[in-house]
Amino acid sequence: MKQLLLPALFLLPAVLWAEETVLKSPNGQLAVRIDNQGGQLHYQVSLNGSVALEKSRLGLVTDYADFSRNLSWLDVKTSRIDTVRKMTRTKAATSRYVANCADVTLRSANGYDMVLTFRVADNDVAYRYSLMRQNRDRYGNPMGCIILDECSSFRLPDSARAFISPQINPMTGWAKTKPSYEEDYLSEMPVAAKSQFGEGYIFPALFHNEHNWVLLGETGVDSHYCGSHLKDWTGDCGYQIAFPNDDEWRGKTSGKPGLNVPGTTPWRTVTVGETLKPIVETTIAYDLVNPRYEATTDYLPGRYTWSWLIWQDRSVNYDDQVRFIDLAASLGLEYCLVDGWWDQQIGRDRMEQLAAYARSKGVKLMLWYNSNGWWNDAPQTPRDCMNTAAARDREMAWLRSIGVAGIKVDFFGSDKQEAMSLYEDILTDANRYGLAVIFHGCTIPRGWEVMFPNYIASEACLASENVYFTEEHARSEAYELTMHPFVRNALGSFDWGGIILNKYMSRDNRSRHPRYTGDIFELASGVAIQTYVNCVALTPNAAEEIPDFEKEFIRRMPTSWDEVRFLDGYPGRYVALARRSGDRWYIVAMNATDRVLELNLDMSSFGWNGSVRTCLRDLPAKKGERFMPAEKTTLKINKKGFTKIRLQPNGGTIIL
Ligand code: CA
Repeated sequence: MKQLLLPALFLLPAVLWAEETVLKSPNGQLAVRIDNQGGQLHYQVSLNGSVALEKSRLGLVTDYADFSRNLSWLDVKTSRIDTVRKMTRTKAATSRYVANCADVTLRSANGYDMVLTFRVADNDVAYRYSLMRQNRDRYGNPMGCIILDECSSFRLPDSARAFISPQINPMTGWAKTKPSYEEDYLSEMPVAAKSQFGEGYIFPALFHNEHNWVLLGETGVDSHYCGSHLKDWTGDCGYQIAFPNDDEWRGKTSGKPGLNVPGTTPWRTVTVGETLKPIVETTIAYDLVNPRYEATTDYLPGRYTWSWLIWQDRSVNYDDQVRFIDLAASLGLEYCLVDGWWDQQIGRDRMEQLAAYARSKGVKLMLWYNSNGWWNDAPQTPRDCMNTAAARDREMAWLRSIGVAGIKVDFFGSDKQEAMSLYEDILTDANRYGLAVIFHGCTIPRGWEVMFPNYIASEACLASENVYFTEEHARSEAYELTMHPFVRNALGSFDWGGIILNKYMSRDNRSRHPRYTGDIFELASGVAIQTYVNCVALTPNAAEEIPDFEKEFIRRMPTSWDEVRFLDGYPGRYVALARRSGDRWYIVAMNATDRVLELNLDMSSFGWNGSVRTCLRDLPAKKGERFMPAEKTTLKINKKGFTKIRLQPNGGTIIL
């Protein structure tokens, strides 16, 4: 490299000292500058000349070589990748990924090689490291290592504002089940704000500065690495990659990952847009990964009823579950999820009968499991069914024999590599028995929809159960649901835990605290939230009290999507987006602010210009009344494809 630069010595003397390369996106607008100055690697990201990430550190420290300093820059190979992927269970049926690639080979001071790979698509930057096996004697060359530190950092401009959620301390929360990604997303935080628990922040993390939006994430994590998050901001690095706290899972093992040599780390992703459109529409979590195994069966999309959210533990009995199966059947929903304690409160023999009853109604059951094990104190049963290969084999064979369609496994509480192995093992074994998998009390998915063809979705958020638990969270439900399309759900499927149509968070639907959102807001969330098997947390008694047109919407609501388009919005304030299922578009808008919002929606790309569409919407509450009425009406789209809508506070609109 240095020899090649010699002829330019008199023109560009500075280049002699900076080993660097600039990689641009196919449209030329997104650019990454990678350099090795004084033996240290950095990168910098800009969109149309505006800084998205300032000069940020790169590098790895392993137990056999230090790739964070004293690096020699050996060479750069560039290439172009252009792939088309067909997908199920994500936000898009097809994704075309076109990126320019650079592989930079670097040598450590003690003579080992590492390749830094960058890919730059029009709105997405991704990078990872590959540890290379040297051309040496077969002995004396490491075949695996411990990664002591990953220096990868994200240095936003100081003026950027963050939409971020803190990582929480290990072995905390209910029954020591945290961290489980169930802390709040904060809005418009200064980047240097200290995290609430001193543990940094989780992915995805969203940032806004004067010229652009930046979404940080990671993808391609399985048993070969740990899940990572971000350390608290420092003046030197910005946000640096953090490994799990050693004290997770009772402190039994280190949080540092081990890696094969040769081997590659997960991808770090940086999605950049001048608007929020590339953030909401990105498929980068899926574009960079490959299936780990073939599906043994067609995992089908659908909706499920779930008694637990409002009727809680006591509803996990035979008779109540029959009512939720009947409700699913009456609405044409495919599944019913039976939550924890079923082994004690229904029993395995009667579960066979319940599964047969469900089948007679055209409904399939999904069953809850505790992931434990020894890693936390969650007492719910069944336990010790998902923690070893032998137990899973026995349990899953039985599940298949009684026709159960899927499992929901709860209470993981770690991002350590050992926990990632457990997720992978459960998914892998479940696929052998044709079982789909939902995770709760868990980490975020990282490309898992593509990597594991029976993976459906994860909770990994301050989810619907909190709307039930406290009035404070019921009040902030609209905030949560207008935040997640831009963060959590932008990079992975999301089991929020249901459209809620109870007026009050109680079995009798008269007591405890109310719901603060409108019915149409809730129905809209069924489209705004992307997951292949979505929850309808409607209870049989609440179903009797809602208008028929709401039930009709639930009956027809798809969960398998071909495409998503961002229309308008701001994280935690409001969102308007469109999803396509087959040849039908569903437009939803939701307002989390305390005032009426008027939006002028551009729907010119849906072929609706000059037409009259069906519209469901929340209306202002009548004087002296607490709840917003909902109506089904029509809406005219003008000849240019625009229409104006009025969104009530905590209200929603759906256009079909
Ligand atoms: Ca939970």
